[in-house]
Amino acid sequence: MAFNIAIDGPAGAGKSTIAKKVAKELSYIYVDTGAMFRAMALYCIRNGVNKNEEEAVSVACEQIDVSISYENGEQQVLLNGENVNGFIRTEEVGNTASAISVYGKVRTKLLELQRQLAETQNVIMDGRDIGTCVLPNAQVKIYLTASVETRGKRRFLELQEKGQKCNLEDICADIRERDYRDMHREIAPLKQAEDAVLVDSSEMTIDEVVNAILNLVAQAQQK
Ligand code: C5P
Repeated sequence: MAFNIAIDGPAGAGKSTIAKKVAKELSYIYVDTGAMFRAMALYCIRNGVNKNEEEAVSVACEQIDVSISYENGEQQVLLNGENVNGFIRTEEVGNTASAISVYGKVRTKLLELQRQLAETQNVIMDGRDIGTCVLPNAQVKIYLTASVETRGKRRFLELQEKGQKCNLEDICADIRERDYRDMHREIAPLKQAEDAVLVDSSEMTIDEVVNAILNLVAQAQQK
């Protein structure tokens, strides 16, 4: 049976950095579900579909095919056959993804793909509803979080490094808004699964978090 690790948590908690490292250590497949929502958001932006109109976004869903492939171990997201990895990491796409991910049509469209990926292979999958909804039987579930200030600072440094102009207060406000929307939506809101282990990375290094997760996996595999 495939071994599944679910990592959920708010934006900027470090899920993808951590999940990639854990995947490498264990030779598991890393599945980034946020990238799938981002690909759908990119379609909406490119085609002038208003993210606030559920009906319009639901209709657009019928025109969208999202799939993933792997190149040198890196997940590539294909939007109607086009590799869009280079276009989905902007703030605009992230905010649009957060807005459209509240709609039922958007979520059901991606749910099947996410479950299929985990069915036959060992995966570490990150997102918002993996432990609670997508993979309720995952053998290890982590809820990875950090304070808004820590997440904001990390994001600020990341953007600065890329040479992008940014403001810490705006970034923190954006994070608070995204947290609120992800946690309060009707369908599959972000919350800690009852059987998930809470990891607060505010005062932890990346390696400490990775090791904590590897220990949890080792414990689960001994059962
Ligand atoms: O994780 P990332 O920032 O790439 O995700 C973009 C947005 O997609 C999130 O803010 C969230 O609203 C949505 N998302 C989701 N469920 C997931 C993964 C992402 O609703 N499993």
